[in-house]
Amino acid sequence: DPRLQAISQAIRVVPHFPKHGIMFQDITTLLLDHKAFKHTVDIFVDRYRDQHISVVAGIEARGFMFGPSIALAIGAKFVPLRKPRKLPGEVISEKYALEYGTDCLELHVGAVQPGERAIVIDDLVATGGTLSAGVKLLERVGADVVECACVIGVPNVKGQRRLIGKPVYVLVEPR
Ligand code: 5GP
Repeated sequence: DPRLQAISQAIRVVPHFPKHGIMFQDITTLLLDHKAFKHTVDIFVDRYRDQHISVVAGIEARGFMFGPSIALAIGAKFVPLRKPRKLPGEVISEKYALEYGTDCLELHVGAVQPGERAIVIDDLVATGGTLSAGVKLLERVGADVVECACVIGVPNVKGQRRLIGKPVYVLVEPR
């Protein structure tokens, strides 16, 4: 797909952010490039339309930058999976491991009904710990998680497949 090269080229790499040794994949430059941004959304929309998906769940914060456009185009609802203490209603929470320490995602109770078909979207998957927490939240309320979707996939990270337990669809590798 020739669109993938344009997408990859629109992602900026910022060395040593947020700390020394990390090559940060910055998708804000992809959002600035109308063509590449549109290609990104279009590829996901083509993949998920006609699959009876009624939930696009986006992971805070960068999953929010792609999820709503996809949801609107495929006729699904958008459900934010947020960091702790951001959602005002009743929530369920799922902790997950980071390189150092833990983090947590929350889902509004009642946002998703049992049996709904869902995808989970984020900008980048590395270990899969973040996506796994999202999948677990949706499964706890009875949703059927069809797939996880990311713009960037770090290949062959130890434990990635095992952690998520779902197919992960990625567009490009880190630059
Ligand atoms: P994982 O849980 O798969 O190990 O890490 C994925 C999470 O970390 C995602 O929520 C993603 O936004 C964030 N993340 C880690 N490294 C990067 C990076 O280089 N660029 C961006 N944009 N996000 C990153």
